[in-house]
Amino acid sequence: MRKPIIAGNWKMNKTLAEAKDFIDAVKNNIPSNDVVDAVVGAPNIYTVKLVEWTEGTDLKVSAQNAYFEDEGAFTGETSPKALADFGAQYVIIGHSERREIFGETDEDVNKKAHAVFNNGMTPIICCGETLDQREAGETDAWIAGQIEAALEGLSAEKVAKSVLAYEPIWAIGTGKTATSEQANETIKVVRETVEKLYDSATAEAVRIQYGGSVKPENIAELLEQSDIDGALVGGASLEPESFLKLLEAANTNE
Ligand code: 13P
Repeated sequence: MRKPIIAGNWKMNKTLAEAKDFIDAVKNNIPSNDVVDAVVGAPNIYTVKLVEWTEGTDLKVSAQNAYFEDEGAFTGETSPKALADFGAQYVIIGHSERREIFGETDEDVNKKAHAVFNNGMTPIICCGETLDQREAGETDAWIAGQIEAALEGLSAEKVAKSVLAYEPIWAIGTGKTATSEQANETIKVVRETVEKLYDSATAEAVRIQYGGSVKPENIAELLEQSDIDGALVGGASLEPESFLKLLEAANTNE
């Protein structure tokens, strides 16, 4: 049985004071780690503070990106070694906003996944298709290709510990959710790709989230699907009340 993982992705939102208010409001109401993994993906500049504020609670901290080198002449980048040193446990890698706005390639995503593991953290590796690709019937091949490229050179043991996130680009921030069946079908493609590249034990172990307009109103239906192991949530993770509702849905689902 795979433990659900609900991760908020705040994207580039909140001041430090707002981040603190959020953490104070949720930190003592997080369901047990034994049942669900609860993660907050704050802007990287807050990582060190979030780790401090969540110490001793069941809430885990994710960064939203990291560079693939640990140190050096890379002005403005975030070192995965520094994030690990701060106490971040997860790093979101290859989000479609990073790929589309900042030109990240499959190769970058793969190097970042290696760097995150090499620093003892867990990558949340994103994939997703555009609406044009879905309408042209290209989704499955595209997603399989993204996953294959992202995982290249990672051991089965590491892949089993990874978190993968299927986020159809047309469903991000649009209020348009993939139906739970659509999401499950494509997540099955992700799992089958892992099985082809590795083996069935690895495919059974890896956790795969759905992301794209997930809200307290639709999360239960998504989590009921056979292959959806959690959610990566943008807008609905910004308010304490709705974040806690998302976690509760995963809690009762168990
Ligand atoms: P929304 O939940 O705001 O659609 O964002 C999804 C997302 O991109 C999470 O990484």
